[in-house]
Amino acid sequence: MDRVRLATIWLGGCSGCHMSFLDLDEFLIDLADIVDVVYGPVVDPKEYPDNVDICLIEGAVCSDEHIHHVKNIRAKTKIVVAFGDCAVTGNVPAMRNPLGKIGPILQEIYCDRPETQGQMPGEKGLMPVLIDTVVPVHQVIKVDAFLPGCPPPAARIKEFVQLALSGAEPKLQGSGLKPG
Ligand code: SF4
Repeated sequence: MDRVRLATIWLGGCSGCHMSFLDLDEFLIDLADIVDVVYGPVVDPKEYPDNVDICLIEGAVCSDEHIHHVKNIRAKTKIVVAFGDCAVTGNVPAMRNPLGKIGPILQEIYCDRPETQGQMPGEKGLMPVLIDTVVPVHQVIKVDAFLPGCPPPAARIKEFVQLALSGAEPKLQGSGLKPG
């Protein structure tokens, strides 16, 4: 059996979902026998690789950089998973949406107050440019499975990973791991 190429990434998230993944404890040792982690915070390659089998995406889409990331992931990954409530619904990062467009908010925070240096984030390539409305991952790309929870409990992650590794890709959409 070919080793499974697993990637993880966090976008607009707090890393709590990744911490829950680490709570898999001994199951991580079992996974090490059959899985190669080819991208993620623990391996940190510069470029997202080709031919990834499964990618767990933590966090909501908050910036132009995130949009680029998820489109690139979609193009190179068989099973894309919205991992945790921020990825599934927007959750915590989306709490800024009711404040309105991001431009006036950043203008006030970074430029209009006397203690600021008068430079907007995103200028001169200093930071990714925030988008006006934070959105869940499936509003930008097709998502194959959803793992809700804030964070998803380790038992649910284990259940999903076992299902995915069993080759049950067609069942993922109806596995109960997708909301609605
Ligand atoms: S779903 Fe919860 S634990 Fe996961 S990134 Fe969002 S706030 Fe953090």
